[in-house]
Amino acid sequence: MEEEEYSKQIANRLIDWYLLNKRDLPWRNTTDPYKIWISEIILQQTRVDQGLNYYLRFVERFPDVFSLAAAEENEVLKYWQGLGYYSRARNLHASAGIIVDEYSGKFPGEYSEVLRLKGIGEYTASAIVSFAWNKPYPTVDGNVFRFLSRLFAIKEPIDTGKGKKLFTETAHMLMDKQRSGLFNQAMMEFGALQCVPAAPVCFECPFISQCMAYSAKMVNLLPVKQNKTKVEERYLYYFHIIQGKNTYLSKRQGKGVWHNLYEFPMLESGVPLGFSELQANPAFQSIFRDMKGMKFRLVLENKKHVLSHRKLFASFYEVIVGNEFGTRTVSDSSGSFIRIEEDTIDAYPVHRLMEIYLENYHNGKDFEIRM
Ligand code: SF4
Repeated sequence: MEEEEYSKQIANRLIDWYLLNKRDLPWRNTTDPYKIWISEIILQQTRVDQGLNYYLRFVERFPDVFSLAAAEENEVLKYWQGLGYYSRARNLHASAGIIVDEYSGKFPGEYSEVLRLKGIGEYTASAIVSFAWNKPYPTVDGNVFRFLSRLFAIKEPIDTGKGKKLFTETAHMLMDKQRSGLFNQAMMEFGALQCVPAAPVCFECPFISQCMAYSAKMVNLLPVKQNKTKVEERYLYYFHIIQGKNTYLSKRQGKGVWHNLYEFPMLESGVPLGFSELQANPAFQSIFRDMKGMKFRLVLENKKHVLSHRKLFASFYEVIVGNEFGTRTVSDSSGSFIRIEEDTIDAYPVHRLMEIYLENYHNGKDFEIRM
């Protein structure tokens, strides 16, 4: 069969499967590039079922690029709270400003212009221009890598420049150029629902007779990855300082994932620290310099939180201090921290670990108490 004819057959079968099996999701019923952009950014590191409510709340509060650009970053982060990878929200906010300033609020329509916006890579730019305007750019995400690697038994690793190029070309070759948006959606949904990582439903698959991995009994060996991501372990120690009605927060600086989110004064270590080791740590001494009569209680110990390259273990200490604590400015390693009334803490965007601690703390759930 001619290559063109073969591609057409695969694309038609994929789209037919999609129209029968697709999940009904709100961002699939729109060609508004703003809403497609928001949904794609939310779904970058988040499961669909978790992302759906965030998407609905986000577009209700920020229904267009103007409302997003005009908002304070703190409020945008608040709407993102719990989703993690907060640079996504900061980039959305910054790019909304660029679209308003440089494009008078009209979403740029060229792939190269979309790619220049902050936080948008090749996949997201392709998704926006193909879903909104049917432009023929393939969206090659993890689902597409998996489906194509199996369909054609491609052993090229997916996490190399060479591999990405090969898979993008293969997707482009198969693409129905008149229905690029629909084709892209169909291929991603097929990987997400049918050609799944473990135990794909091969015996009900419309491609079983063409699937080269199936006939070669290689389904579970594909796709191939070259590098296993190294996961680093970090230990975080937070101090929930209580001084009458007040507590202390620090706004995270630097380029990390939690940039501009609030948290209790803390110190970080590459190894676990007992309380006497904590006390000897210079960051601890900087926070509690000259303090007397403090009472420490370990209320949450080694709460695990996994990021893409890091495994975090967070411990939270409640620290009761006297009034003299607030009479001086104190700095921890991430910058000076502010004194706030404890009952206003909900107004501050915090990361997931802080959120877990506060939910449990305020709900009065029991933590393991070791001191
Ligand atoms: S036969 Fe199995 S491995 Fe091959 S495309 Fe279908 S679901 Fe995926």
